[in-house]
Amino acid sequence: MIDLPASLPGGRPLGAHLPLADGMVRAVDRIADVGGGALQIFTDNPTSWRRREAPPADQPAFRDRLDARGVGPIAVHAPYIVNLAGPEEEIYRRSVELLASELAVAPGFGARFVNVHIGSHRGAGRETGIDRLAQGLDAALAMAPEAGPASPLVVLENSAGGGFAVGVTVEDLAEIADALAARRIGPDRVAFCLDTAHLWGAGYAIAEPDGVDDLLARVESLLGPGRVAMVHLNDSKAERGSRHDRHEHLGAGRIGASGLHRFLTHPTLAGVPHYLETPGMDEGYDALNVRNALRIGAGLPMEPIPPDALGARGSGGLTAPD
Ligand SMILES: [Zn+2]
Ligand SMILES: [Zn+2]
Repeated sequence: MIDLPASLPGGRPLGAHLPLADGMVRAVDRIADVGGGALQIFTDNPTSWRRREAPPADQPAFRDRLDARGVGPIAVHAPYIVNLAGPEEEIYRRSVELLASELAVAPGFGARFVNVHIGSHRGAGRETGIDRLAQGLDAALAMAPEAGPASPLVVLENSAGGGFAVGVTVEDLAEIADALAARRIGPDRVAFCLDTAHLWGAGYAIAEPDGVDDLLARVESLLGPGRVAMVHLNDSKAERGSRHDRHEHLGAGRIGASGLHRFLTHPTLAGVPHYLETPGMDEGYDALNVRNALRIGAGLPMEPIPPDALGARGSGGLTAPD
């Protein structure tokens, strides 16, 4: 019996997006108990514009437990409804306010990152979408509390490419970085997240080690070193290049273990926290995916995934982001 390694290669913290339905403090215990070390959460309902008035009562206990169990970094996933890249004024305005609100509450959750989808230009065109996004980020950062040592980074997530999405290719991400730089928004305020299932939907051949090498060489040369602050580590049920986004248990989808192994051992992403957004986090599959991430990282054979985990149903409703 080979011992499971305690961590991913290259000092990558391994976390998961866990629901807080059973209590925030229990979520910290859960990730530590199943062998993870980092956590992604929603601060509130991810499909609503409404935010609670005051922080949850157990927030101080949550922060204490993070310290006690050595869990971090914490990422906040912003609501899906945020779209800074679209032409509709009302949605844009509410998106700026909602992102500013997430930035304001994140430090209370001990969060270093506020992860947000790049959004959709809704037919207005890619250039217009990127301009709008940069303007929206500028506005949200201006509304958020002044930058300080506890300020969270905004982390923009690549898209699989469905529905007029912006931020599908590495070239798109580089163009966004340029648009931000033109507004004097630097790497200290905004970074990027690579979601492996989205890269796959966008057409990157990351099932093959060579495809991973090509992609990450592009990331390194176009975005520059250190610009990727987070990874969402997911397999995918979708076809490569389909622009669909359907997360799957690690090693059980179309990306598979060999591409994911290269991803988890590639020096470009050393030290970058990796968060699982795989199905069934509230049904015990968080533990299985943590163990398989550690196994895939170490090049060990995977633990088999029960056939009933691979049925039609994915994670239920609000428990995991897409
Ligand atoms: Zn993601
Ligand atoms: Zn997704």
